Amino acid sequence: MRNWSIPAGRIFGVEIRVHLTFFALLLFVWLTEASRGAANPGRGLALVAIVFACVVLHELGHALVSTHSGVPAKAIILLPIGGVTLLDETRQTIEPAAGTWKRDIRIALAGPLVNLAIAFAAGTLLLAVAPQVHLWAKPYVDSSNLPRSLVWANLWLAAFNLLPAYPMDGGRVLRALLSRRMDPVRATRRAVSIGQGFATMFMLVGMLWDPWLIMIGVFLFIAAQLEERSVMFQSVLETVRLEDIMLTDFATLSPADTLEDALNKAVHSLQDDFPVIRGSDMVGVISRQKILQQLRAEGNGYVQAVMNRIFEVAQRKESLASAFRKLTSRNLSIIPVVEDQRLVGIVTLQNLMHSMALLAESRKLRRAAMNS
Ligand SMILES: [Zn+2]
Repeated sequence: MRNWSIPAGRIFGVEIRVHLTFFALLLFVWLTEASRGAANPGRGLALVAIVFACVVLHELGHALVSTHSGVPAKAIILLPIGGVTLLDETRQTIEPAAGTWKRDIRIALAGPLVNLAIAFAAGTLLLAVAPQVHLWAKPYVDSSNLPRSLVWANLWLAAFNLLPAYPMDGGRVLRALLSRRMDPVRATRRAVSIGQGFATMFMLVGMLWDPWLIMIGVFLFIAAQLEERSVMFQSVLETVRLEDIMLTDFATLSPADTLEDALNKAVHSLQDDFPVIRGSDMVGVISRQKILQQLRAEGNGYVQAVMNRIFEVAQRKESLASAFRKLTSRNLSIIPVVEDQRLVGIVTLQNLMHSMALLAESRKLRRAAMNS
């Protein structure tokens, strides 16, 4: 999805990106305004800018509430029909599923609430100080009356986003409600297919009625697909077992090794992190960097004195998602994989990305072989 969007700055530490299809909308508006014989097609673009700003505020509403609830927002991608807030799911704290759906509903409703608040504030202000704007006159959203458009565009954004069509916010509320009764991946699939149903309906009705609806349908479809892909990624993380990707050929150190011995071993290995083993017990972990630091600062010593004794272990059947959470939540760079207390492999951040890519490649090859 990133390939199709360009960076447009940061607000509150959240990266803002604009999807390339947005520029198709600008072109579309310019051409419609020009073909209508509008004296100033620039007003059309000003209207787009206003809607654009309101969409950014809408997305910031999601981003702030979600960061506040412990799921930091990574980036906001602006599509012509609205935005998509990418959450940093890997940093999601593990909490009972019971609380998750309420949190998801809070995050989903934050966006439309921002638009309702803008519409209410702007509407009240206009009625009070600029009655000549004629808030209730048609057309509600039109480049010839920008203040009135501000109010109605926000009402429209709120209403549209509240449709139960995933990945619109209403669809997210729906998914959250569904996830109370089924697992999250199934709930998302269900919500995505309902969303694509809505998209198809928009396109069909649009053909008979208003070409704008076709566009909305198309973008709804794209958005649903983007969302499904990120859920697929999440489900890959859930289905890959550590035994599929762990390093089984790795160097270990003993607590009785001197740091100079350790450095010698480190030179002959690509590893950055080493498990420290006494007999068959895991007693700690140490990184190449730590070995070097210690040698520089205090000269030679024993691994035992320097190694990190606080570490997490994982089982070989454990999912990649769970290892990922362990690595990132504790800021670790290595997780030993054990079976019956015996060390059978290691997973490091360094090898994780690498193995994921290899695994994806080998699955693709296997699928290609099956199809041919
Ligand atoms: Zn939203």
